[in-house]
Amino acid sequence: MEIACLDLEGVLIPEIWIAFAEKTGIEALKATTRDIPDYDELMTMRLSELAKHGLGLSAIQQVIATLSPLDGAAEFLNWLRKHFQVVILSDTFYEFAGPLMAQLGYPTLLCHHLTMDPSGKVTQYNLRQGNPKRQAICAFKTLYYRTIAAGDSYNDTTMLEEADAGILFAAPPNVIEAFPQFPAVHTYRDLQMAFVKASNREITL
Ligand SMILES: [Mg+2]
Repeated sequence: MEIACLDLEGVLIPEIWIAFAEKTGIEALKATTRDIPDYDELMTMRLSELAKHGLGLSAIQQVIATLSPLDGAAEFLNWLRKHFQVVILSDTFYEFAGPLMAQLGYPTLLCHHLTMDPSGKVTQYNLRQGNPKRQAICAFKTLYYRTIAAGDSYNDTTMLEEADAGILFAAPPNVIEAFPQFPAVHTYRDLQMAFVKASNREITL
């Protein structure tokens, strides 16, 4: 059997922190790992910005609930789920992804989680495990699943390498250039075709 593993942000939904920063006007939250490479430093800054602006989890979720999946994402996911078991492997947090997952019909999601104090203030972030996307692929392989993975960025490349087939979707030129071994596609239609091609079964579009 085959299992399809998808990245979430940049593939099915917008980058949550950037979209959230735009909605709230909190400039500091536009920083990404490109600006602050140390992930712990970046997340500590993000949590302190949330606290500074008095944004507890429910306020954050209300803002995130106004975001939508990317155009065509829900239709693509429905198509994919018809033909594959689908698991989303993401570096987001369950508490942030919730409102967007509702709009996608709650597909299976493996990601990190947050800790809140009784008032709802976010006090800590908890990573699921180290190198989580690659480890999930390794685990599916021990279940004898053939894996096909798609993602858009550097944090997906160990997953794409470990999978039986890896696909870059809507990746920036520097990622495509650094990883020429993966087919790179930019539309959901082409992503469907890439999954069909990577599959060892006969699938009709
Ligand atoms: Mg991504």
